[in-house]
Amino acid sequence: MLIKNNLQNILETVSKEITLVAVSKTKPIADIKEAYDAGHKIFGENKIQEMVQKYEALPKDIEWHMIGHLQRNKVKYMAHFVSLIHGVDSLKTLVEINKQAIKHNRVIPCLLQARIAQEETKFGLDFDAIEQIIRSDEFKALENIKIVGLMGMASFTDDEDQISNEYQSLKMFFDKLKDSSSDSKTLNIKLDTLSMGMSGDYKIALVNGSNMIRVGSAIFGERNYIA
Ligand SMILES: *Cc1c(COP(=O)(O)O)cnc(C)c1O
Repeated sequence: MLIKNNLQNILETVSKEITLVAVSKTKPIADIKEAYDAGHKIFGENKIQEMVQKYEALPKDIEWHMIGHLQRNKVKYMAHFVSLIHGVDSLKTLVEINKQAIKHNRVIPCLLQARIAQEETKFGLDFDAIEQIIRSDEFKALENIKIVGLMGMASFTDDEDQISNEYQSLKMFFDKLKDSSSDSKTLNIKLDTLSMGMSGDYKIALVNGSNMIRVGSAIFGERNYIA
């Protein structure tokens, strides 16, 4: 009941064009089922094995998003069903995703994860590294992946101006990249998704142009352990 109410409260405050990824990492199947029964179909997990288990146990019309840092040797376990991979931060990983996608005769949508936080610990690519990847011949040859946008995580801080600045910088880069890649001769890039914002900062992210938010604890409650 609580999960359903939380979901509704969030959906009421965000516009219909915004995609809400309900981040269910560490949470039991029953919690996901409750959100599913309330009509929600898009869930995010940050560990491939956990996502596979949940995929197998739950209805097949769920869209599963991988939002965590990827271990390349595990991409094969989710290649047949994953809907969107948010955390791609190297060309090597794209090559592996492409290889696994070919085996399943599909194209896997991906987001490149940009480094926007000032903190040292966050994963992600600098803006110029993203441009380099996209311009490379190796990337252009990957026909079974499609870069549909960018993902970013702001610093873990109470300073809302800093969070806002970090998200704004990603939005500006996204718009620029969208322009410069719109005449791409390859089909493996078409930017329309900007994944920014979590429970604590999604409102700031939305003000700064996010169109996909990844919300966990505000829907499912606090997690018992660090994921
Ligand atoms: C856990 C996680 C979230 C959701 O975090 P909450 O603060 O619980 O909303 C969003 N994005 C990523 C990449 C995560 O790992």
